[in-house]
Amino acid sequence: MEEEPLPDPKEYAAELKKIRFRRLLLWLVIGAYLPAMMVALDSPDYRKWATIVFVSWIVLLILAVGYACLARCPRCKELFHTHGPTFLPLRRCLHCALHVKADKRPPEQNHPRARFSKKQ
Ligand SMILES: [Zn+2]
Repeated sequence: MEEEPLPDPKEYAAELKKIRFRRLLLWLVIGAYLPAMMVALDSPDYRKWATIVFVSWIVLLILAVGYACLARCPRCKELFHTHGPTFLPLRRCLHCALHVKADKRPPEQNHPRARFSKKQ
């Protein structure tokens, strides 16, 4: 049984760029916690600033995770990083295994299967 050829990933460049931006935002928020908390703890009024930094970071993290969760895969139109209630910020779509940099990479000869595909 032959599978029909997949469309050229370069067609998805704009949507993949949005997904990459959302992923970058998420990792920046996660990575900003430690330096921000170190600065807050060095201040003379450290209890107040540590509380402000922690609450602000939690709010930003919730927003960044929500933003990344709602990214749709341009190929299968499913949520790219979400399968059911599970959020996994992996580099491939959880449904069709489209790589987040598929538009910048050479075409894959052996297309990998999605890890959590519905159709198995
Ligand atoms: Zn997909």
